[in-house]
Amino acid sequence: MEGYTKLTIPDNTYIHDCAVECPNCGVSIIPKISVGVKVMENKLLTISECTLHECGLPFLETFKKAQVHKPSDQNAIYYYNRKVYEYVTSYNEPEEIEVYVELIKARPFYQSFSEIYSQAHHAESENLHQIAGMGFRKSLEFLVKDYVIYLHPEHSSSIIKNAITKVIEEYLSHDQRLVDISTRAIWLGNDEAHYKRKWVEKDIHDLKKLVLLAAQTIEYEESIKGYLSTMKEPRK
Ligand SMILES: [Zn+2]
Repeated sequence: MEGYTKLTIPDNTYIHDCAVECPNCGVSIIPKISVGVKVMENKLLTISECTLHECGLPFLETFKKAQVHKPSDQNAIYYYNRKVYEYVTSYNEPEEIEVYVELIKARPFYQSFSEIYSQAHHAESENLHQIAGMGFRKSLEFLVKDYVIYLHPEHSSSIIKNAITKVIEEYLSHDQRLVDISTRAIWLGNDEAHYKRKWVEKDIHDLKKLVLLAAQTIEYEESIKGYLSTMKEPRK
């Protein structure tokens, strides 16, 4: 029937092909529909796509069943009353932090670190680099302090009070690599908060890398500890 386009999925489904405004770029287009789903008796929901090359983003549309006299195809169902809905993705934590988020139950000291890191990452993705840098620095502080508190809960009040460099020196000297890497992360992190940069050839990517290396070093240590404690003796 004129003014209607047949969908590939589902069968026998035709939709009114009027132009709509893409909710992502605002341009008037006739969207490309990849799939439709019948919802209740008289509605159709589609996953649509902007046909403008520079946009091409997906969105949702709904349609209402049309009463058509003498349809050319007896089995056909026609839909009209096209409505467009923006598809908004919620913000998820960055990929590199997923492993720590999953471990929070077993190792609660990753909780604040993951939250702060994710927020800093979000700021970075919005091009708020100044704020992001300070956020990554803060995520390191929480990672190290919460880890040390986890190892020495009885000293928590002095750990919270003390400067991070002192905490590293005092409590992490058993793992020189962790001391080395977290100290360097602090050097770069301080550049993010201070007026004059000392490490001019390094940037926020280096800071992120160092923070993640510190987390990996802690996780490496804790995983080994875990296996050694659950597999103490050989079995006969
Ligand atoms: Zn568009």
